[in-house]
Amino acid sequence: MTILALDIGATKIAVGVVGADGMTQEVGRIQVPSAGVWEACQELLLSVAGDDDVPIIGIGTAGPVDAPSGSLSPLNIPEWSNGFPIVPAVKDLFPSASVRFAIDGVCLALAERHFGAARQTPDALAMTVSSGIGGGVIVGGMVAVGHTGNAGHIGHIVVPGSMDPCACGGVGCVEAVASGPSSVRWAQGRGWTGTTGLELAEDAQHGDRIAKAALRRAGIALGQAISSAAALLDIDLVVVGGGFAQAGEPLWRPMQESLGAHARIGFLKDLKVVPSELQDRATLIGAGLLTALSAPA
Ligand SMILES: [Zn+2]
Repeated sequence: MTILALDIGATKIAVGVVGADGMTQEVGRIQVPSAGVWEACQELLLSVAGDDDVPIIGIGTAGPVDAPSGSLSPLNIPEWSNGFPIVPAVKDLFPSASVRFAIDGVCLALAERHFGAARQTPDALAMTVSSGIGGGVIVGGMVAVGHTGNAGHIGHIVVPGSMDPCACGGVGCVEAVASGPSSVRWAQGRGWTGTTGLELAEDAQHGDRIAKAALRRAGIALGQAISSAAALLDIDLVVVGGGFAQAGEPLWRPMQESLGAHARIGFLKDLKVVPSELQDRATLIGAGLLTALSAPA
């Protein structure tokens, strides 16, 4: 008997096996192909399950999702942008399995609450800053799911002073300003010649003027979005993971300055922003934790 967890992100798909303690160990990972995404998922799941019985699978995916129908329409996976019925597809593959499904932000929050930086904190926001910006909200110790399963989409909080178009169809969302690709595009528009968020972060750390300005712009926008979310939710901890969040001081210092300027209301005086302890394992671990929740009604 094997309890599986599946993490479908914008760039990678990972599969893990959930242990008796609720912790998931990753056992397989692939890049998201430009076509045949479901076929690739299927091959990965079958290679891990082998001939074992699979009673429960937890799935964490990039959003948005439609939880009632078990489908997803991720902004960053073009092949599925009009929707893909992931829960029915997984049920076809493992007919006797119970399938649990949530957006990556909900999984991230569950993982940080149980095994990560939010273990001691019942009111927190967990977020990821990477090729997109996502998150999950923990209020009163519970992870908020929302009407359609999409609570925690902090990437689409609007920040001041930006009219940048966002993949969601809106303008001025923090994701359109502060994600890795958005920051790369902004820097390229000003003469920076690199191509990835990692290069941008490295160049900023080495003092490149445009790269530093791009990370500063991203950090300020993140601080603005976090301040808004923190005031709305009355939280005292924000856990930030994701590849682009590892850009270090050139991103984190302006983010902290921005928080200092915006999160001024008295009840936010103890607000702390800390790096994720689980980093890119968080969604998979959270997908594993979905399998321990009671089955949806
Ligand atoms: Zn948006």
